[in-house]
This record gives sequence, C-alpha cells and structure tokens, in this order.
Amino acid sequence: MGKERKTAIVTGSARGIGAAVAKRFADDGYAVAVLDLDEAACAATVEAITSAGGQAIAVGADVADEASVAAAVERVATELGAPTILVNNAGILRDNLLFKMSVDDWDQVMGVHLRGAFLMSRAVQKYMVEAKFGRIVNMSSTSALGNRGQVNYSAAKAGMQGFTKTLAFELGKFGVTANAIAPGFIETEMTAATAQRVGADFEEFKAAAASQIPVNRVGQPEDIAHTASFFASEGAGFVSGQVVYVAGGPQD
Ligand code: NAP
Repeated sequence: MGKERKTAIVTGSARGIGAAVAKRFADDGYAVAVLDLDEAACAATVEAITSAGGQAIAVGADVADEASVAAAVERVATELGAPTILVNNAGILRDNLLFKMSVDDWDQVMGVHLRGAFLMSRAVQKYMVEAKFGRIVNMSSTSALGNRGQVNYSAAKAGMQGFTKTLAFELGKFGVTANAIAPGFIETEMTAATAQRVGADFEEFKAAAASQIPVNRVGQPEDIAHTASFFASEGAGFVSGQVVYVAGGPQD
C-alpha cells in the first residue's frame, strides 16, 4: 500500500507562482489546499489538479486576518488531513516612492506578507509539531536587497528572511524546517501589472529584464515550484533556515 498523502497549504495559489507550486505539489503526491482571498478564483488551480488525478480543495481566506486563518486551517485539517507543508506565497504590491507612499500602502503590504506568514505559520505549526514533521517555505524576493519604489515590499521581503531563520531555530527540534525562496523576475500577473503601472509593453518589459539576467530569460512560475518542491521533500530535512535566490544568476 502507498503511504498516506501529506497535506500542503499554498497561500495565494489561485494564480501565478502559488498556482504552479500547488500543481507541482499535487504531482509530488500531496493533497493540496489551494488558498486565496476569493474561493471561486481557486477553481482553475483545483480543476487542473483534480483532472490530472490529484487531490485539492479551494479555500477562501485572507491570510492577514486572524479569524479567517484559524477557520481556513481548521477546515483544511478536517477535509484533507493535518497540514504539514505550508508555503507562504500570498503577496501584493503597493509600489511608490517613499515621499508618495501612504500609510495604507505600507500597512497592507506588511499585513499580507509578514502578518500573513506569521498567522499562517502559527496556525499550522501545531499540526507539524504533533506529526514531528513539517516544511515551511516562505516567499521572499530579490527586492529584499532593496528596490527603488518598494520601500514597503523590500522591507517585508527582507523581514520574511529573518522570520524564516527564526522559525528554523524554534521548530527544528520538532522535525520542522523553514526556508525561503527569493525569486527574481517571474512572469506573472504581478509583473504584468508592474509593466502596466510604468506604462511599458509587457513583452518589451520582459525582454529588458531578460537582458540583465545571466541565464538570459525571465523566470517562470515553474522555476519557483521546482525549488519549493525540493524544500518540501522529505530528503531536504537537513536544509533549514536558508534563502535561495531563484533569479537566473547571483545576487549581491
Ligand atoms: P500574483 O500573480 O499577484 O498572485 C498572488 C496571489 O496572492 C493572488 O491570487 C492574490 O489574490 C493572492 N493574495 C493577495 N493577498 C492575499 C491575502 N490577503 N490572502 C490570501 N491571498 C492573497 O503574484 P505572483 O507573482 O504569483 O507572486 C507570488 C509571491 O511571489 C508573492 O509573495 C510575491 O511577492 C512573490 N514574488 C514574485 C515575483 C515575481 O516576479 N512575480 C518576484 C519575487 C517575489 P488577489 O488576486 O485576490 O489579490
């Protein structure tokens, strides 16, 4: 008989990087909770997984809201089984230069990335500790190193790295690892929206980005899913507290 499927939660997986991670995890044999703000928006990811023979449910939740997170995690545990893999991927951009940035732009970005990762990790850790196994993967960014117009986002993404390392210290003795992925330019609706905001054609925007990347292309969501798959695997149990830049070349 095969082993029981592990349950994974991927936040922000209605589309983009999260959707690719959710599909890859289903291929890896996990039951996947496809969690996003709007439950209906998760349907395409869930359908892609189930039509390929995998197991997935759609879960609508706001990761920045404590009660919403508690209800979502409880639902996942009941419907799919105790979650022992968590990818904190949900994210938003509210770019602006410092002098034009509103307090709301600052708070919303901190809320989704940092508060969200904190609330999700705190809610899920008890299942991991009970199982004496867990994998937490946090989505950072090359913007953690600083990026013009992203004082909120770069602070949040640098914060994700410190958060990850502290989880690694606290949870290691329970068989739980925590690692971060720092993607470079990945082709998703997020980067398409950035192109639109600066008034650039997306194809030209991508070509300009690719010309600055050593492997001479922009990244695809599957590039990030591949790294997440490694971190989530049983064999990666001695890799913890790491930040891997998945950016087509080295970062400063
Ligand atoms: P995306 O296409 O914009 O997808 C992000 C998803 O997160 C959306 O479905 C969004 O839902 C959801 N979300 C936003 N706020 C949420 C909340 N409070 N609760 C639950 N879900 C929420 O972005 P992406 O490009 O795939 O990025 C995924 C992650 O990678 C983000 O953390 C991002 O910062 C990071 N990243 C991306 C790149 C890149 O080049 N694309 C580079 C570095 C890091 P709504 O549509 O309803 O808002």
